[in-house]
Amino acid sequence: MTPLDPYLARTRIAYLSMEVALDPAIPTYAGGLGVLAGDTARSCADLELPVVFVTPVSRDGYLRQEIGSGGEQIDHPDPWDPAAHATPLDAMVAIRIEGRPVWIQSWLYRHACPHGGCVPVILLDTRLEQNDPADRGITDRLYGGDEALRLKQEAVLGIGGERMLRALGFEIQTWHLNEGHAALLTLALLRRHRLSAGRPAEGPLLYDLDPVRERCVFTTHTPVEAGHDRFPYDLVSHVLGDFFEIDQLRPLAGEDALNMTRLALNLSAWVNGVASRHAETARRMFPGYRIRAITNGVHVPTWTHPAFARLFQRIAPDWAHDPDTLVRADRLEDAAVRAAHAEAKAALVEETKARCGAALDPALPVVAFARRMTGYKRPDLLFSDPGRLRAIAARWPFQVVVAGKAHPRDGGGKALIRAVHEQARALEGAVPVAFLPGYDMALAKVLVAGADLWLNTPLPPMEASGTSGMKAALNGVPSLSVLDGWWAEACEEGVTGWAIGRDGDAAEAAGHARDLYAKLEGTALPLWHGDKDRWTWMMKQAIARIGSRFHSQRMMRRYAAEAYLR
Ligand SMILES: *Cc1c(COP(=O)(O)O)cnc(C)c1O
Repeated sequence: MTPLDPYLARTRIAYLSMEVALDPAIPTYAGGLGVLAGDTARSCADLELPVVFVTPVSRDGYLRQEIGSGGEQIDHPDPWDPAAHATPLDAMVAIRIEGRPVWIQSWLYRHACPHGGCVPVILLDTRLEQNDPADRGITDRLYGGDEALRLKQEAVLGIGGERMLRALGFEIQTWHLNEGHAALLTLALLRRHRLSAGRPAEGPLLYDLDPVRERCVFTTHTPVEAGHDRFPYDLVSHVLGDFFEIDQLRPLAGEDALNMTRLALNLSAWVNGVASRHAETARRMFPGYRIRAITNGVHVPTWTHPAFARLFQRIAPDWAHDPDTLVRADRLEDAAVRAAHAEAKAALVEETKARCGAALDPALPVVAFARRMTGYKRPDLLFSDPGRLRAIAARWPFQVVVAGKAHPRDGGGKALIRAVHEQARALEGAVPVAFLPGYDMALAKVLVAGADLWLNTPLPPMEASGTSGMKAALNGVPSLSVLDGWWAEACEEGVTGWAIGRDGDAAEAAGHARDLYAKLEGTALPLWHGDKDRWTWMMKQAIARIGSRFHSQRMMRRYAAEAYLR
């Protein structure tokens, strides 16, 4: 009996992802992609889908964020101890990197749902004595290091992951690549389908693509060309050696460089974007491929505050397993909804005090903005006209909380964090602004439930989906957001929240700040201050119309029925 026995016989699908947010105590994720993968795993357990997850162990986590006195982000590793959460497995596999064998071992993390379903997560680890000291750290730090290290990490995930599952005894029929990071897997599979001499090749190709394509499912998350991983072929040759002939790779992955998205597109029979709008953008970017849409969803019991969980239990006893039933949320009593929100808001007030010393006033509305700090998310949009913001706050007092990490090499994102701190200081006495350091799953839970209004201001069409507004809606928090990603599907003006700008109009981006201020001053804040009944009605509409639809059970039922059971 090995720890894997309960899973080996039934598991048929492997889900490979560079990051998976398994638990608030396990910092193996950077942001939305990892949280989505974690919610996917949680729903697979709930629905008892036969899926195994594969991801690097990332012992040093992604980034522990400290904010210096000048508002500068100071980067620290965020180590965790795999032995405290997972079981070591004894299989060992090797891949060749820069001509050296790199050995990989793995850990088994089990995610169990309260109903009894359980999914295995295989954490790949190169920190082994057998490895050259230069190679031991490959899986240590999520997205750490340079381009070469990134390619090595992707080789461990894609090539090492495939070998590891075989070595452990899994018989996988369908491989799900969560983003292009895992696309080297396709080469590992292709090598098993090299055409023997005498069989007709597909043009000059020496490999039979169809059996690989049939088995691969690819979810792309990146709506801009620059966001796709791309490696120069001389680097690929240097790192992977003769693993796969470069002249064979060019027609599959791009003439000039190895584009991981192209490779995955060419070798996956089923491809999807993560919202309708994103799939349209991806089709324009990659003409000639059939790209479907499955809009992301969030894991409802994970993101619902306990006070709302108690309310949901009364109107829909099966809500956690079958969140469609949250459509009944308009039956909730207003006073109960307000009381639950007050409880969640008190927790945010306390967390804010603890993290940055700021005292929020629970009697005033809190506008929250929390996401990865990077240019296209425009965390500075709200602060672009401080005079206007002061004038609005003089009529309709409100406070702002901001959170988010910048990638250690994203100088622009770090500058935005400094700029937000400068704005906060300049607005002191007029508009309280608190920056909460260390945005992670635990802080996200507090923020999405405790805020009164969830703000999102990406530059279209850059937001593939976005999910934090879904988490907020579950807790009765309406969004004020640019119509991009999922919000283009979920926004019902004045019902689930409000739109900034017109639908799909990127050219309008310059007017977004104006529109944001107009909605805050003319619509959202007056409603919060002046019409509590209508505001509470909107809270219930957010739960009923968004909570019942934008959840990961719906998302995984669709992946299972449409992508896995083709
Ligand atoms: C949900 C979540 C995200 C993704 O949210 P977006 O809406 O895509 O910005 C990122 N980080 C954390 C910690 C989250 O919980």
